[in-house]
Amino acid sequence: MCPSCEPEAIANGNSNSNGHTNGTSNGNANGDSNDHPGFTAVETKSNPHHVRSNPYQPVGDFLSNVSNFKIIESTLREGEQFANAFFDTAKKIEIAKALDEFGVDYIELTSPAASEQSRADCEAICKLGLKAKILTHIRCHMDDARIAVQTGVDGVDVVIGTSSYLMEHSHGKDMTYITNTAIEVINYVKSHNIEIRFSSEDSFRSNLVDLLSIYSTVDKIGVNRVGIADTVGCASPRQVYDLVRTLRGVVSCDIETHFHNDTGCAIANAYCALEAGATHIDTSVLGIGERNGITPLGGLMARMIVADREYVMGKYKLEKLKDIEDLVASAVEVNIPFNNYITGFCAFTHKSGIHSKAILNNPSTYEIINPADFGMTRYIHFASRITGWNAIKSRAIQLDMDMTDEQYKACTAKIKQLADIRPINIDDTDSIIRAFHRSRVLGKDVSETILAPVAATPDDVVV
Ligand SMILES: [Zn+2]
Repeated sequence: MCPSCEPEAIANGNSNSNGHTNGTSNGNANGDSNDHPGFTAVETKSNPHHVRSNPYQPVGDFLSNVSNFKIIESTLREGEQFANAFFDTAKKIEIAKALDEFGVDYIELTSPAASEQSRADCEAICKLGLKAKILTHIRCHMDDARIAVQTGVDGVDVVIGTSSYLMEHSHGKDMTYITNTAIEVINYVKSHNIEIRFSSEDSFRSNLVDLLSIYSTVDKIGVNRVGIADTVGCASPRQVYDLVRTLRGVVSCDIETHFHNDTGCAIANAYCALEAGATHIDTSVLGIGERNGITPLGGLMARMIVADREYVMGKYKLEKLKDIEDLVASAVEVNIPFNNYITGFCAFTHKSGIHSKAILNNPSTYEIINPADFGMTRYIHFASRITGWNAIKSRAIQLDMDMTDEQYKACTAKIKQLADIRPINIDDTDSIIRAFHRSRVLGKDVSETILAPVAATPDDVVV
């Protein structure tokens, strides 16, 4: 039996039916609710996620790198451009170590030319001896390149704007100047025996002929990677696929991609880029970056584990994701979004009676990702008017309150009746379950008295 097939942990919590947590743990059942107050997890019959193939697996083709991709983690570069971000040296080192333990292939740092402290931080992280390769991100300029190669980085990511907007309104250079400067910088960095990537900026609003021409030129002089950047988040997955596939036919080096999330396509674009032959994906923790950020590390993991669980599980320590997200969220003073991939508080919470029944029998019915793969727990939210008797039965068994199916159904009807009147929480449902169980033991019908104080507080429903 593989580890993921083990019975899952049971956790318990208290909840209001509207989903707001009250932070009160439920001492009536086993488990620790501190990490997830508000919902109750129940043990499911089996975990069938060990199945190696599923109907959603991509159709393999010679271009696709869906099962062979690398992550360039840019929380300490792109993420530093997030509105709330300020990382001191200690915090940068803490984040870099956490990302390294997670298993990212590269960690990208702010340009050492940005400030004196940025340069010192870059040198400090290079000296940590991490497994991940350390990159820094610089303008396509000899002054920046000279500073970068002296920091001890494993590679330099060079970028220059190639769209008409940036050529006219930002740096004011034409393609001839860009090409000549690129050649000079690339040759200089290569002479120091470290990796070099050349990327255009705002690639999807750049002239395609110009792009292919300069990528072809830098490929011939030996860059390790060329980069495509959707700097303004305008690209759609189909546009990404077309551009990367075209580029794949022009260059022989690796292809790195960088997607902003302004129009909500950052993860889908990253996936399509891999399908079209890209080799590297830029991410940041929680997607933090300029404006609303880039492809989030956790969201990409969610996407990729569905495509190739074996590759993702074998390469990345997924159970560390939540700790890294908590670390970065705290550092930049934001909350983890409620609907966050994997770690959002309701990411593995099932509520309706139909869903709960099926989940209790077989979690794959309504889950494409196994929460246990990420060290997370699934929850059944049963304190509501849309609950079902299978969920209530499961909760009763968890409370060691054995009854007949008919009694579970009657108990459930009473819970739904109360939940139609006002929001209820786990204490309410547990109290009703206990009342029904007691009535069974005593041989009395207490169902008519349970709801007497219908408008009362949760404690008052105890009979
Ligand atoms: Zn960016």
